[in-house]
Amino acid sequence: TMPTETFEFQVEARQLLQMMIHSIYSNKDVFLRELISNASDALDKLRLEALRDDSLGADTADLHIALEADPQARTLTVRDNGIGMSRDEVVALIGTIANSGTAAFLRELKESGEAAGAAPEQGLIGQFGVGFYSSFMVADEVTLLTRRAGESTGTRWTSGGEGTYTVESVDDAPQGTAITLRLKPEDAEDRLHDYTSPWKLREIVKRYSDFITWPIRMAEPSGGGTEPETGSDADAAKEPETLNSMKALWARSRDEVTDAEYHELYKHISHDWTDPLETVRLHAEGTFEYQALLFIPAHAQQDLFLQGYKRGVQLYVKRVFIMDDCEALMPSYLRFVKGVVDAQDLSLNVSREILQQDRQIQLMHRRLAKKVLSTVKDMMSAHPERYATFWREFGRVLKEGLLGDGENRDAILGVSSFATTHDKDQPTTLAQYVERMKEGQEHIYYLTGESRQAIENSPHMEAFQARGIEVLLLTDPVDEVWVDSAPQFDGRDFRSVAKGEVDLGTEEEKEQAGSEREKQQEEYAGLLAWMAGQLAEHVKEVRLSSRLTVSPACVVSDTHDVTPALENLYRAMGQ
Ligand code: ADP
Ligand code: MG
Repeated sequence: TMPTETFEFQVEARQLLQMMIHSIYSNKDVFLRELISNASDALDKLRLEALRDDSLGADTADLHIALEADPQARTLTVRDNGIGMSRDEVVALIGTIANSGTAAFLRELKESGEAAGAAPEQGLIGQFGVGFYSSFMVADEVTLLTRRAGESTGTRWTSGGEGTYTVESVDDAPQGTAITLRLKPEDAEDRLHDYTSPWKLREIVKRYSDFITWPIRMAEPSGGGTEPETGSDADAAKEPETLNSMKALWARSRDEVTDAEYHELYKHISHDWTDPLETVRLHAEGTFEYQALLFIPAHAQQDLFLQGYKRGVQLYVKRVFIMDDCEALMPSYLRFVKGVVDAQDLSLNVSREILQQDRQIQLMHRRLAKKVLSTVKDMMSAHPERYATFWREFGRVLKEGLLGDGENRDAILGVSSFATTHDKDQPTTLAQYVERMKEGQEHIYYLTGESRQAIENSPHMEAFQARGIEVLLLTDPVDEVWVDSAPQFDGRDFRSVAKGEVDLGTEEEKEQAGSEREKQQEEYAGLLAWMAGQLAEHVKEVRLSSRLTVSPACVVSDTHDVTPALENLYRAMGQ
């Protein structure tokens, strides 16, 4: 077998560990949430792998998590009989920072740039899950003993968190992972931080991990000495107590579950540590039964616009975890939505490829998208500030749906907001815009551009400003595209103020302007013809305009021409 090896932690990991070790953060309890969360994932992975691979040879009859406290030795062990890790996996997964929550934590820490000397970790550790390393908040030595299902040799990892760790191979490790914490002596007298106390463990599990669908068992600490042993059961081993209710949250009725419980589930599956903005529940009955519990986060993930962003929700089949990031269930423009979908009648062996083709899945996809959009609509009226946050964080993504999802286009427009000339700080919904439309105004006017300021300074705006007609100021790249494909809202066309002829004013005004224009047209015919000749290479036509009030001239596109910005976009794409 391989000898004991000593490794150094990756630099970031070392910094993080230092922070954990010296943490004076009072809510250290979250370490247990992290270890249980990892154990639960390991059990999910084992069950799935065993279902798919008969030859794995793992015992899946009694999958569970066990908490074993020893008050005398002052140790706490969190044990699971899940998938386990190979030696290489231990080195790769435990010695470095892979976890996205941890990465976000470090980033936030750097950005917040606390004054030297202050303890920057105070609130942050509780907000972010910092994974396995959080055990160093309460332990001065951590030992991890693990054996991967299907392998015969196990691995022991040990560290005091100070910069190095050792790894050795072990012959007789049980399958799964056991993490033993040697609790810090300074917490020994502190009842609030006594992690060998049954009530303390019970309390933490109830608080943070009740939704875990695997049993979390606790054996009464042996030799505690506080309970008198009654003669007859003195030898009988006490049945371990199951601490969590284990019922899948999505299968429980709404009034049975607290918001706090929903939020803990959200944190478990999303690696986000702020509460979600909205919880969306759906129970579909009938021939194809499924339950969905979805969450709209309170802030956009950093990589939302990067390629390779993992979108989609978790898929379960009859309570069995099947996959993370099931993109077939959620349209790309709702890729920020997190959650769980649990289907009754789906093969446990479904693959991503099959899912994309499956008709039932497509129906679920449609229904879920509609449900999320209707939730946003409700939020708009019931919780305007929440909606404002939603729009700030996800509006840009949601508008992508105006391009691809014809079926939901109206619903998406209905929950969209836009910067507007009406109010320099508050965006407007289209319904509000329509309500403010001037008498005789038929269209919804907009102008696209790089920034609000650039648009406001455009000569195209002059006539509209002069007449007090509201114009939407569209500055997102995606705006260039959807305005061409979303022709109407509430029966009204979208019109760019930079394209074609603009006909502002009432019928009367228009008539009057018309006859005047004819006169002017004759008067200036010579000049216009001369200019058209001079500019023949650059413009299609030179004509009189009523759209300008200050500037002498401006360049406009035909109604159906691409805008300059879109032209640039196409050019950049090599078209
Ligand atoms: P995260 O869970 O967010 O990935 P952690 O720091 O909590 O980050 O854990 C790092 C990785 O170590 C996990 O992704 C997993 O692959 C592995 N791991 C941790 N605990 C266990 C466990 N009990 N069984 C199997 N693998 C584990
Ligand atoms: Mg984890």
